[in-house]
Amino acid sequence: MTDATPLASEQITPETFLAQLRRVNTDRYQAWIGDADDAGILFDAAELGGEVGELLNVVKKLEREARGWRGSRAAPEDFADECADVLICLDKLARRMDVDLEAATIRKFNATSDKVGLPQRLSATPVPGDQDASQAQGERLREVIYRYQCDAGLAPDDAAADADGIVEAYLAAPRCDGAGWGADGG
Ligand SMILES: [Mg+2]
Repeated sequence: MTDATPLASEQITPETFLAQLRRVNTDRYQAWIGDADDAGILFDAAELGGEVGELLNVVKKLEREARGWRGSRAAPEDFADECADVLICLDKLARRMDVDLEAATIRKFNATSDKVGLPQRLSATPVPGDQDASQAQGERLREVIYRYQCDAGLAPDDAAADADGIVEAYLAAPRCDGAGWGADGG
């Protein structure tokens, strides 16, 4: 008999939100259709179109209310719900062509910024457990703690084992003139 219980290390899978959406969305779709034939890309495209229509219908109702016209109403929560439905169905459609929505969005957004000469850029979500990202975050945190130590007049603690204590000490201590501990070699 096969032991299907995942190892502890497998139970916590670092992933971005969009990666989680793709995984759970796919699982739910499979559970939803059961043994039925796969719907295919045209169904998913039609479903996305339907959700975009529902979103626009909510916008229409909100606009109707803003103008004081009679007719049915929608709430801001309906707007949020339909935005969510659009994202969920866009992911289902993108999956058909194996599109990584995060990577594609970053690539397209930044290409448009380049094209029109604007500085705004997107970057990938740091994934907990990603060695490079975690290391970079750790280095930034150590740098911040070191600067706090300097401002608080504390001796640098390379181990930074008591980050909370250091921050508490920093908050409790009077601010220095900005030169910081060690600026003069002390
Ligand atoms: Mg909907």
